[in-house]
Amino acid sequence: RNAFRVFDEGLDSEASSRCRTEAELREAIAAGALELHFQPIVAFPDESVCGMEALVRWRHPSRGLLMPDQFIALAEDTGLIVPLGEWVLRHACFEAARWPGHVRLAVNISPNHIKKRTLVRSVIQALGAARLPPERLEIEVTETVLLLHDEAILAELQQLRDLGVAVVLDDFGTGYSSLSHLRMFTFDKIKIDRLFVAEVAERPDCAAIVCAVTGLARSLGMAATAEGVETAEQARLLRAAGCTHAQGYLFGRPQPAAAAYDVAVSGLAV
Ligand code: C2E
Ligand code: CA
Ligand code: CA
Ligand code: CA
Repeated sequence: RNAFRVFDEGLDSEASSRCRTEAELREAIAAGALELHFQPIVAFPDESVCGMEALVRWRHPSRGLLMPDQFIALAEDTGLIVPLGEWVLRHACFEAARWPGHVRLAVNISPNHIKKRTLVRSVIQALGAARLPPERLEIEVTETVLLLHDEAILAELQQLRDLGVAVVLDDFGTGYSSLSHLRMFTFDKIKIDRLFVAEVAERPDCAAIVCAVTGLARSLGMAATAEGVETAEQARLLRAAGCTHAQGYLFGRPQPAAAAYDVAVSGLAV
């Protein structure tokens, strides 16, 4: 009996702490306590800044600045991912509208959000409110969105492309049967996961995989971004392997809007 009660109380306090965090996150979204940081994306061969990826953070009243891995899963489980995604879209578009026209904005959208079938409307509203041309927006989705095997979702993504918004396949190479997914939808760009990039200098097989992927991307008319680039050696190899774009701490860390604005205007030389 005793043991049962302890177990029960443990579950109870875990559930109530989760419940509290959920309420706090709901409140944070409504009150604008979320923050966006922006990480530069550069174009090869000259490594000029051509885009910024919006990455969300949560300024928690007692726990400090929380990273996505501390609250995105909760947002997914509770449905808060939709208002969160809409908040990110709106605020990121407003920020991007201040940047020079050649600097694009990349926004991550969860498959659970896309399932709700309200994304196209939200994108049109966010672009309109910020007066940001659709050609300046990229929506990053993971392969999970294709695993749903839902024609309506693919139609929704295609509508974004028809508007002029680019659709990017994120974290390429980490999921299942990635190659067959490339047949299901025409992406504008793929992002090669950090996993491959991290070892590209040490392991010839990783370099070979990156070469094969960029070759495939090129023949399918897609750009290829290498993510998580940390060293000049990696950048050199990735460029030689045919990546068209790169992103990572080597070029710049995610940073608050004001600092990102300076990078968008002046490039990385400042
Ligand atoms: P992601 O979309 O793959 O974003 C890249 C992550 O890698 C970011 O982590 C970024 O800070 C980190 N990163 C960038 N360059 C380097 C590098 O050179 N080395 C290393 N070690 N890491 C690097 P972050 O900001 O913690 O975001 C983690 C994930 O959370 C993102 O992965 C994305 O899946 C998700 N996420 C972030 N913001 C949003 C959002 O607004 N909405 C949704 N749905 N998901 C988001
Ligand atoms: Ca991303
Ligand atoms: Ca990624
Ligand atoms: Ca990732």
